[in-house]
Amino acid sequence: MALIVQKFGGTSVGNTDRIKNVARRVAKYRANGDQLVVVVSAMSGVTDGLIRMAAELMPLPSEREMDMLLATGEQTTIALAAMALHALGIPAVSLTGAQAGIVTDGVHTKAKIKNITPKQVHALLDSGNVVIVAGFQGQTSEGAITTLGRGGSDLTAIALAAALKADLCQIYTDVDGVYTADPRLVPGAIKLAEISYDEMLELASSGAKVMQSRSVEFAKKFKVVFEVRSSLNDNPGTIVKEETANMEDVVIRGVSFDKNQAKVSLIGVPDKPGIAAKVFKSLAEASINVDMIVQNISHGSGMPATDLSFTVDKPDLLKATQVIASLRQEIGFAEVLSDEKIGKLSIVGVGMRSHSGVAAKMFETLAREAINIDMISTSEIKISVVIDLVKGELATRAVHAAFLGPH
Ligand code: ASP
Ligand code: MG
Repeated sequence: MALIVQKFGGTSVGNTDRIKNVARRVAKYRANGDQLVVVVSAMSGVTDGLIRMAAELMPLPSEREMDMLLATGEQTTIALAAMALHALGIPAVSLTGAQAGIVTDGVHTKAKIKNITPKQVHALLDSGNVVIVAGFQGQTSEGAITTLGRGGSDLTAIALAAALKADLCQIYTDVDGVYTADPRLVPGAIKLAEISYDEMLELASSGAKVMQSRSVEFAKKFKVVFEVRSSLNDNPGTIVKEETANMEDVVIRGVSFDKNQAKVSLIGVPDKPGIAAKVFKSLAEASINVDMIVQNISHGSGMPATDLSFTVDKPDLLKATQVIASLRQEIGFAEVLSDEKIGKLSIVGVGMRSHSGVAAKMFETLAREAINIDMISTSEIKISVVIDLVKGELATRAVHAAFLGPH
């Protein structure tokens, strides 16, 4: 008998027919004699709808009340899912995050899980129930309802799987698993049977959003092996787990293109100590996440000057240029430029560590397509380049074909 945690996202519980499907799937596993803990999200669109209503009342609602409000989305789904199981004759009990023993800190709307004491979950499982737990929510030790940040139901599932020492954790979503590239961009993309936590994290940070990154980090830390798979069919999904030796046989696990980047360039920056520190400290203080940074070598006679470019998330571009403009007096650069029409193309794979010539092959492939590389950054298992936004699709296809074949 295995203990399985299954998580169903918003689209998988998007209406009562979908909830019936979830119940049928749960019933099938239960018929095999497995114990099931089912974590559900709010029905698709519900959380967004609640946020919109709050915004109609005031621009910055109290975060405590936002948590009170948003937690109702998942609470609706757990009750409906329990009823759908009852309709199939299966004993099931729904629990809020608090009832499932999920204790968080008090940072409303983005709380962190402090510990989980799933006493009730164990008791209900032992007496033969399917236990349905509301994702995305917890409770402080003082009893205030909290939520874990958008997409936080994934985290609930992974954290519960760790706390319950589950044999299997399945994340059901509306895609079949993790692909070598976005199948909408690259027709030859193939579904991966497995991927390491680090590769999954690098792909997510490169724009391939299958799951909330925080949940993958949590899974890595607590060694929770999980499967990402579709709730719309019975195909096996992608297993996400610790790196194994044979994973390095494959040079590149995946290619991704992130359209959500923008570039800021400071031209004619005095080349002296402390400038970069000032620039990036100010950006950090404004909570702007900087990704790639490139500094040119010094040029000019007399006082040496340089150019400094970096990328930020597109929605932060305006804020970033304002922060930089406010430093102009102090730093004394010549001008600041911004460019929204860029994207970041990345290749990811633990095999890069043991194979050489990977970067050269990527750059050659882009050169053959006459695609100019604007910035480059590398990590142990990732190479990213900034290119022209309109070349994104062409570049993704070409690089995918070069490393992963046309299939
Ligand atoms: N309902 C929450 C959201 O939409 C949590 C989740 O779906 O994981 O962000
Ligand atoms: Mg979701």
